[in-house]
Amino acid sequence: MLKTIITFYLLLSISSCIAQEKDTATSIINYQKEVMAKLTGKNTIAKNRFLRQRASYEERVISAEYLASELIRSGWLVQFQKYQTPQSNYFLDMFFSPNKGINVVGKLLASKPTKKHIILGAHYDSERNSPGAVDNASGVALCLALAKKLQQFKHKQYNVFIVFFDQEEDDEVGSTVFVEKIQKENLEVHSVHIFDLIGHDSDGDFALTLQSPAPLLEDIYLRKAKEDNIPMQIIGGAGSDNKPFLEAEYTTVHPFEELDDRTPYYHSPEDSYETVNFEFLANTTNYIGSVLAEILENNK
Ligand SMILES: [Zn+2]
Repeated sequence: MLKTIITFYLLLSISSCIAQEKDTATSIINYQKEVMAKLTGKNTIAKNRFLRQRASYEERVISAEYLASELIRSGWLVQFQKYQTPQSNYFLDMFFSPNKGINVVGKLLASKPTKKHIILGAHYDSERNSPGAVDNASGVALCLALAKKLQQFKHKQYNVFIVFFDQEEDDEVGSTVFVEKIQKENLEVHSVHIFDLIGHDSDGDFALTLQSPAPLLEDIYLRKAKEDNIPMQIIGGAGSDNKPFLEAEYTTVHPFEELDDRTPYYHSPEDSYETVNFEFLANTTNYIGSVLAEILENNK
């Protein structure tokens, strides 16, 4: 009898654990669907306003305001970094207006005062004539779900920035301006994690690519990937906002889709909400959450 009761109790607690895990995955997927629908013009982002792209200054301002409001709703402090810089070619400035944009900077304080920061970043602008679902509403949705998750961490060893960069599609203007700012301020940075292209996984294996990971980060990312059964491949170079951070020699990593299973709709009008694999995005979000728990809670 006792054995039956214990077995029953065990079964109950296992099923409630599974239910809880499923709940979390479902709530992440629901939230990320809501965010991505607004950013890609499937739903309205402001009153009567559908975004066909996030390329013009006006479209980027609307997006930035929405992202700031989501961070604030999750309990983060938010600042806008507005900038105006010349084009890389001064001749172009005579015909086109200079680069003008807004980085959205969210901040969550460490449990005990410290000067060290972790930076999570994703660009929110899109290529012209593209809804930019995978590129890169997916990276933005990952960061916004993490914003909620990080609030629940019992202990945070470092302050955390979530930065939504503008104008990645114009040679990383937004992230370059941000790097210049933190260099000037001598900001102490533990590590920089850049998310771009996390929405396509046609073979359903949840595999990822790590681009140019610093040794410390490579070790943690690979260990956690093994625990979560995520196939992982490492490549060099810079393919996103990790570029200015690598050039300034920060401890950096850029996880993205499996190299041979990337979105075929990159920079096209077909990079739409309907093509996003939300299970893959949620699975990757949970995985990055466990990497960050290792760094923030276990003092790595
Ligand atoms: Zn991108």
